[in-house]
Parts: sequence; structure tokens; C-alpha cells
Amino acid sequence: MTLELVTIPCLKDNYAYLLHDAASGETTLIDAPEAAPILSVLKARRWRLDQILLTHHHGDHIDGVPDIIEATSADILGAAADAHRLPPLTRGLIEADTVQIGAEKGYVIDVPGHTVGHLAFYFPASGYCFTADSLMAAGCGRLFEGTPQQMFESLAKLQQLPPTTIICSGHEYTAANLAFAATIDPENRALQARIRAVTRARSGGHPTVPVALSEELATNPFLRAQDPYIRAQLGMADATDAQVFTEIRALKDKF
Ligand code: ZN
Ligand code: FE
Repeated sequence: MTLELVTIPCLKDNYAYLLHDAASGETTLIDAPEAAPILSVLKARRWRLDQILLTHHHGDHIDGVPDIIEATSADILGAAADAHRLPPLTRGLIEADTVQIGAEKGYVIDVPGHTVGHLAFYFPASGYCFTADSLMAAGCGRLFEGTPQQMFESLAKLQQLPPTTIICSGHEYTAANLAFAATIDPENRALQARIRAVTRARSGGHPTVPVALSEELATNPFLRAQDPYIRAQLGMADATDAQVFTEIRALKDKF
């Protein structure tokens, strides 16, 4: 039996996610941008909240924690390395630690780049990976603290997950990310199809996340540094994948 996923729009363009295990009645929240929309989903579904997994310390991912804790007394789990700048943690996490939701295990993946303490959470049995501001829909997070090399290596880890993995990222930035992608990968038919689908979804007010890793592999330029067409486009046929990635990240910052 797999976990039930609920995507919750928060603030202007953030997403929080709930994972619910019907067998045990346990529910886990991934990131807490603001309390009200999360508490209202919990109330409507009559779910009790057991734990909160925090991906990184930015306010738009943790500011809802105090009000949610007051209402639910859930455990708080986040990067041990960032304990000094996260809400008080019940348990600090490092790479390869496991978290539990009912009978299902989740694995902690260290994905520095956007921040140096950024974590992703992977649940292989259900096929979900929570990537927040590391791997994002059609993009990746801005490098506030880490180096391009760190983000390149973080994304390389995520790219190795099964292509059917459902990537649950932190923001509704997809349309802007795709507009940038089209400037460096203009002939990509899968990318053109995704732009049409995302335009339709947004005009109907629907979220464009989560999305399968296979779709990211086909259309996200930050996962496509090895693509001969993109390399030729950038005049970087002989560069390393990490150098091409670094250039794509720099171009996106200027876009
Ligand atoms: Zn962030
Ligand atoms: Fe964010």
C-alpha cells in the first residue's frame, strides 16, 4: 500500500506536501511555508500530524512551523548541520538517515547548492522524492550558498533515482523555468510539449508539480548538460558536463 500525497499551495508560489499512511493513520508534512492552508487540509481530512520534515532553513519553508507545532505537537526533523538556523529539531538528519511513515521508509539525500544544508527525502516504495529548491520543475534552485559544482553533484544523485520517481519540488516557477529552457534547447519537442501543458495548467489555476523524473530528464536543461545539441548551442562541445551546467546556471541567473 503506497502513501497518499497531497500538494498544498502556500504563500505566493510555494508548495508544502502531506504524505499519509492509511494503515497506521500516520501523516508527515514536508516543509511548512505557512500554517493555515496546511492545518485546514489536516482538519478537512481528519488527519493527525506526526512529523514535519524540513528541506532547508529558508523562511518560505519553515515559517509555518511554530503555529503547526502549537496545533499538532508533531516531531520536527531537519539537517543536523543546520540545527542552529532551523526551528528546534526533535532529530537532526544526515545523508542516508532514514525516516519512517507507518511501514514505509524514507531516505535522506544530502543535496547542497541552494543552501549548504539542503536535504531531499526519497520514499522508494511509493516513488516520491521531495526536492524543494534543489531539483525544481524544469529548473534548479538559485545558488545562495553552494557552488555550481555542489549543485551539479546534488542533481547527479537525484538523476540516478528511477525515472518513474515523482519529483515534489518547492515552488511554482515552472513557466518561467521553461521559458529559459527554450532559449538554450529550442528544438526539443518534449520541451515544447511541456510548455503547452504548463501554459494550460496555469491558465486553469492548477499546480505544475509534482512531475515524473523522466519528464525532467527530457526537458530540464540543468539535467541535460551531456546533450550534444545543448553543448553545441552553447559553443561548449569539448567542456565537461559540470562546466556546461555551470554555464547554464549563470545564463539562468541573467535571464
Ligand atoms: Zn529556498
Ligand atoms: Fe524556497
